[in-house]
Amino acid sequence: MSYHYQSVLEAIRSDVAPLRRAGSVANYIPELAKINPNKFGMHLRTINGQDYAVGNSGENFSIQSISKVFALAMVVSLIGEKIFERVGVEPSGSSFNSLVQLEYEKGIPRNPLINAGAMVVCDVLIEQLRKPKKEILEFVRLLANNKKIGYNERVAASEKTFGFRNAALANFLKSFNNIHNDVGDVLDLYFHICSIEMSCKDLATAFLLFANHGTVMTTSESILTKSQTKRLNALMQTCGFYDEAGEFSFTVGLPGKSGVGGGIVAVLPHRYAVATWGPRLNARGNSVMGMRALELLTTKLGSSIF
Ligand code: GLN
Repeated sequence: MSYHYQSVLEAIRSDVAPLRRAGSVANYIPELAKINPNKFGMHLRTINGQDYAVGNSGENFSIQSISKVFALAMVVSLIGEKIFERVGVEPSGSSFNSLVQLEYEKGIPRNPLINAGAMVVCDVLIEQLRKPKKEILEFVRLLANNKKIGYNERVAASEKTFGFRNAALANFLKSFNNIHNDVGDVLDLYFHICSIEMSCKDLATAFLLFANHGTVMTTSESILTKSQTKRLNALMQTCGFYDEAGEFSFTVGLPGKSGVGGGIVAVLPHRYAVATWGPRLNARGNSVMGMRALELLTTKLGSSIF
């Protein structure tokens, strides 16, 4: 069905405009605090390859935790379900960088979309790949059909300098033998994938993988099985927004993932992928404008998975 997507996106853009000053930019990574907070972009790409966009949708931003989905997809494509022996599949109900659960759950992170879980995923990628940084970037470029996507070394260095909590998590995991490589190497890879810069258009294109049974739209290459795609979508649905995963399901009703760079990507399986960007975050680290824009999208289209 050909929706009036463009007019819906235009309406959403003006509906969210009053939220332009709500929330604040992530400043615990100093380099991220330099962003102009008043940006807003949204890009929707259908399974048929039609594009609809408003605002700063073509501008690159730091994808941060959205990268956890790419890392997980790559690990699952390499070792399948074995990854879930080292990381769980339950929502954490805690903040993305929480330490407490790890202690009483003996070093097995609740899920791969919180920081600790993503570090275990990075550890496996270091074991599996000859040049992890290069190969992950190639994987993301393939999914997004954009060879220009890259790391932002300044953001990665800034996070390394101030990433005391992430360093604590990685060392803690190592103490439970759930990191096999050098802690510094795992953190370096983790900080780098968080520093990847992409636009809403790139993200919507890349996430069509999850709307399309695990097959890359542009090359027809099969990366994940149908069952693996289902599992990744389920993880995004239940864990993609940390202690706000329930709220995102409740208001938006799509599998999705957020990052502290202000990006959110969501997927309506078999129909579309949509990405939003608004740098100001709520108290749980999710984009204020993005959350609202996606709520309006599924409400106006009547098209959540529920
Ligand atoms: N790089 C960020 C961190 O580890 C990612 C967090 C996020 O986007 N939620 O703190």
